[in-house]
Amino acid sequence: MINITKSYLPPLEEYVKHLEGIWERVYLTNNGPLVQQLEKELKDYLDIKNLLFCGNGTIVLQMAIKALGLTKEIITTPFSYCASTHAILWENCTPVFADVRADDYTIDPLKIEPLITEHTEAILATHVYGNLCQIDAIEALAKKHNLKVIYDGAHSFGATYKGKSALSYGDISTCSFHATKVFHTIEGGLVTCNDDAIADKLNLYRSFGHRFDDYIDMGINGKNSEFHAAMGLCNLPVVPALIEARKERFARYDAQLDLSKLQRPVIQPETGYNYAYYPIVLESEAKLLEIKAALEQVKINPRRYFYPSLNTLPFLKTTQPCPISEDIALRALCLPMYPDLEEEVIDQVCTIVNSYL
Ligand SMILES: *Cc1c(COP(=O)(O)O)cnc(C)c1O
Repeated sequence: MINITKSYLPPLEEYVKHLEGIWERVYLTNNGPLVQQLEKELKDYLDIKNLLFCGNGTIVLQMAIKALGLTKEIITTPFSYCASTHAILWENCTPVFADVRADDYTIDPLKIEPLITEHTEAILATHVYGNLCQIDAIEALAKKHNLKVIYDGAHSFGATYKGKSALSYGDISTCSFHATKVFHTIEGGLVTCNDDAIADKLNLYRSFGHRFDDYIDMGINGKNSEFHAAMGLCNLPVVPALIEARKERFARYDAQLDLSKLQRPVIQPETGYNYAYYPIVLESEAKLLEIKAALEQVKINPRRYFYPSLNTLPFLKTTQPCPISEDIALRALCLPMYPDLEEEVIDQVCTIVNSYL
C-alpha cells in the first residue's frame, strides 16, 4: 500500500539513546531538557527569536488567536485544512472567507480588502503546499487597516521567503509537526512570534496560565512531551536531506507527467520551496474521481487535499461563496510524495495519470 505520505523514522538506536536519558531522569514532560534542547535547535535552524514547541498544529492556532486578543471577525482562507477554520470557531471568533488566487491557491489580497469592516481584527492565512502567501501585500493591508496577521505555516517548515524562514513572518506564525508533515515529532506544533510580550503570553497559555502558585490568566494545556521532543531531535538534522530527496521526486513527476494537460500551483518568486506536497489539478471532478479510483486499484492512495473548500463546511452560520477555492477543491489531488518514495512508484503513478488526461 502506497499512501500520499510516509513518515520518516530515524534509526531506532538514535531514538533509544534519548529514551535512556528519559529513563535516567524520570522527567517525562513539562518543559523538560529535551523540549528545551529542541527549541534551541529550532531557533538556530529557523533563525527565529521566540518560539515554543507545543502539542500540535491546531492548539497553536487557538493560542495565537487568544494571545492576540481576537474576539470578532478574522478574514481567512477557504483553501486550507479544516483546523485553521475550526480554531477560529473554537475561539468564538467569526471566519470571513476571502477567495484564493487562481495560480497558487493562497488567499488573494485583492479579495481581502473589500471584506474589511469595523469588526475585522485579523487575517489568518495559510501557506499552501509549502507555497507561501502574498506576504508583502498581506503585511501592507494589515498595516493600513491596523489588523493582526497569523500565518498557518503547517506546510511550510523548511521553506523560506526572501531568505528568511516562512515561519518568521506575521504577528504570529504556527507550524504542525504532525507525523505527515515535512518535519515531524509524531504529534507536535510550533508557535513563533517577534514580539516578546506576545511570546510571554503564549508561554503562559501553553501551561494553563499559571506560574507555580501564581494564577495569572486562563490558559490551556499546549505542552508537548520529552518523547515527542526526542523524535524531533532525531529528525531535525536530516531535514535538509529530506527536502533534497523530495526535490528529486518532484523533478521526476514533473518530467513524466503530461503537464500541458493539468494544472500545477505556481511557486512564487523569492521562495525557497520545501516540496511538501505534489498536487495536480484536473480538468474536472469527474476526471479526478476516475484517476483516484484507478490508482486505488493498484493500492496507491492519493488524497483529495484540500477538500472541501472550508467556506462550504456544513456547520457554518453564513454562506460565503468563494468560487475559485470551491472549484480547485473539487479538482485537486495530491499524489504520493515523501523522501524515500520509489522511482518505480512515481513512474507507475505518472503512466496511470497520463492515460486519463
Ligand atoms: C496539518 C495541518 C494543521 C493541523 O495540524 P495538527 O498538528 O494535525 O493539529 C493545520 N493547518 C494545516 C494547513 C495543516 O496542514
